[in-house]
Amino acid sequence: MLYFPLQDLEAAALNLDDPEHLRIHSLETFGTHDGPGVRMVVFVQGCQFRCVYCQNPDTLDVHGGMLIGIDELVKRADRQRSYFGKDGGVTVSGGEPLLQRNKLTTFFKALHAIGINTCLDSNGRLNDAATHELLEHTDLLLLDVKHINDEWHHKLTGLTNKNTLDLAAHRESTGKRMWLRYVLVPGWTDQPEFLEEWAKHFTRYKTVDRVEIIPFHQLGSHKWDLLKMNYPLKGLEGPTLEGKKAAVHTFNKYFNNVVLK
Ligand code: SF4
Repeated sequence: MLYFPLQDLEAAALNLDDPEHLRIHSLETFGTHDGPGVRMVVFVQGCQFRCVYCQNPDTLDVHGGMLIGIDELVKRADRQRSYFGKDGGVTVSGGEPLLQRNKLTTFFKALHAIGINTCLDSNGRLNDAATHELLEHTDLLLLDVKHINDEWHHKLTGLTNKNTLDLAAHRESTGKRMWLRYVLVPGWTDQPEFLEEWAKHFTRYKTVDRVEIIPFHQLGSHKWDLLKMNYPLKGLEGPTLEGKKAAVHTFNKYFNNVVLK
């Protein structure tokens, strides 16, 4: 994994309304955590959720980050394509990519035009015609369904899970692939009854070909301090081995391909 600073992109910084530029936080080359194979990962800037466990709080501000031309990103992906192999490609993660869904449709169409696989990592916050258009050009959707109970989802993220569940249903209706992601947080998302409910909700989905459980960790906590933001989960330990095994056991009852990250 290689993160590189964006100073070399400063020349690309133009105004926000320019449809040809994406507002991004950073780029990762040779990413192996966000979708299949080796991927160029574009972390976009801006998110409307406020997850208590967010490990990238520096991506939340919709006015932060840097603007980069979509054509520049396509050129970078093209230069890296020999590393992608048959499974890899480009993933857009965040932040929340759907905030820039029209521009991402342009980006994904351009990638498809040169034969590069596209993957979108989203919290599903928006579910409208423009989102559906983007999903048409998304080979694989990585959908973060953060809690099945709406009250808990509010506590966890500040917003409802309704749009996310509706977006999952939409994706299912299109027959196109998705992976579901679940961050396991002790005391917040590990309640046995809600793990069961989450799994039952999706068990009949034919387009879900993998479920990823991502154990909570504290690796991003220092960023909250740097931003002088109050970190709600300060000092919380990640899930125990037993906690992780219990979640895997529950999901294994309902899905064929459960991966503990
Ligand atoms: S959706 Fe992702 S980027 Fe947004 S607050 Fe939650 S964890 Fe952070």
